[in-house]
Amino acid sequence: MQLHYIANASVRSASERTLPVIDPSDGQVYDSIQRGTAEDVDAAVQAARHCYEKVWSKLSAAERGRLLMRLSMKVAEHADELAAIEQRDCGKPTRQAKADAAALARYFEFYAGACDKLHGDTLPYQEGYTVLTWREPHGVTGHVIPWNYPMQIFGRSVGGALAAGNACVVKPSEDACLSLLRVAQLAAEVGFPAGAINIVTGYGHEVGDALARHPGIDHISFTGSPSVGTIIQQVAAERHCPVTLELGGKSPQIVFADADLDQVLPTVINAIVQNAGQTCSAGSRLLVERSLYEPLLDRLGAAFSRLRVGPAAMDLDVGPLIRQTQQQRVWDFLSDAQVAGIPMVAQGQVVDEAPETGYYQAPTLLRDVPVSHRLAQEEVFGPVLAAMSFQDEDHAVELANATQFGLVAGVWTRDGARQLRMARRVRSGQVFINNYGAGGGVELPFGGVKSSGYGREKGFEALLGFTTLKTVAIKHG
Ligand code: NAD
Repeated sequence: MQLHYIANASVRSASERTLPVIDPSDGQVYDSIQRGTAEDVDAAVQAARHCYEKVWSKLSAAERGRLLMRLSMKVAEHADELAAIEQRDCGKPTRQAKADAAALARYFEFYAGACDKLHGDTLPYQEGYTVLTWREPHGVTGHVIPWNYPMQIFGRSVGGALAAGNACVVKPSEDACLSLLRVAQLAAEVGFPAGAINIVTGYGHEVGDALARHPGIDHISFTGSPSVGTIIQQVAAERHCPVTLELGGKSPQIVFADADLDQVLPTVINAIVQNAGQTCSAGSRLLVERSLYEPLLDRLGAAFSRLRVGPAAMDLDVGPLIRQTQQQRVWDFLSDAQVAGIPMVAQGQVVDEAPETGYYQAPTLLRDVPVSHRLAQEEVFGPVLAAMSFQDEDHAVELANATQFGLVAGVWTRDGARQLRMARRVRSGQVFINNYGAGGGVELPFGGVKSSGYGREKGFEALLGFTTLKTVAIKHG
């Protein structure tokens, strides 16, 4: 049985209730977590506040950086253990689980180095004044984390907040939190003071809601669905608590006729099948210039048919979806496609070894998806790619921008001027030209526009969001 982690100790919930932990590869229960309450959240916030005021805020930025670097090295030492935990909890193929553990170590490394580079400014003002700006931590930050990349999102969110000098209370997803409980223990082992990192597990409407409402939380970093993002924002607005929202996407891959197909094909496939399509920045729409549409779909269809899906430990192209309701969600989208007469180009294969009780979905390539259909508008969060063709650059931009989302876009063309025009005209937080995702991009600010959210995580930019700016004007004559 797993316990909350509060003030460097494993503790039971005040509710004395637990929730099951299910392995998505076979649908079987193999562990349990605490079903947290508002009381547990309050204990965690008090621990974080005490740490912030008495210990954490008194450390120099360099000392915080050293602790984060020690944690990065500890995570790297325990990478296989953490990857194995994440693999079973989330159903991640081995390569993905290992990449997530490596990314966690890298986030802590990046933010370790950033701690003592964060500084304010001196502003020109009237004669007889000196005006300074200081970057100060918010104090106690709350972090609500989804199930798709627990370690990576913890790394970028909590890593940035700690580096900026905050103490953290984390609410992981009820569907995937085991790796984070272990990381918090590792942090204590390398010397993080009690209360710097606290983790309360449980349901969103119980623990997450209590966290968003708690008057001791000075900033909320939320990563998850647009609908819950709206709730968090509304709850936080009642007490004017600042919020960063990292929400969903319906990101386009825009392929012009002059693109290098040998580069396009593997990247487009990876961008939709990675993590079984359960990635906020999944390239879930494929927009192709008309003259290339048929040849590209021929090659892509052949590649989709070869994709294999199976238990996480088999380390195939695709693992299971996180849970049965997610599998049902993908099935609903696919049956809507069938009803609408949307042609299926190809599907991968679920291997015979996959238990029937696991949550498997073969990657699916659909073509001629009408721009108004929900498959072209809503986040499926499964390995389903919706292809459509465009006539020219203006049409490509129109289609690319025709959803409520704006998280990431991929543009594939050898024409340099077009690359820059497209990067300007597509509305999204990130644009990748002739690549997609830039290998994870720990250093690169990440976040959305429109319903994909606001605020930025990753990179140095995230540190600014985890601070507040104080202006100090001194009149000295
Ligand atoms: P979700 O919104 O259902 O849950 C996210 C977190 O919010 C979980 O910890 C959940 O318990 C909690 N929660 C649920 N209801 C709550 C409430 N009323 N109050 C407070 N907290 C509550 O999302 P999910 O299904 O876990 O994750 C998938 C979604 O996350 C997708 O939409 C995906 O695009 C998005 N996502 C975005 C990014 C990004 O960086 N933009 C990254 C990963 C995932």
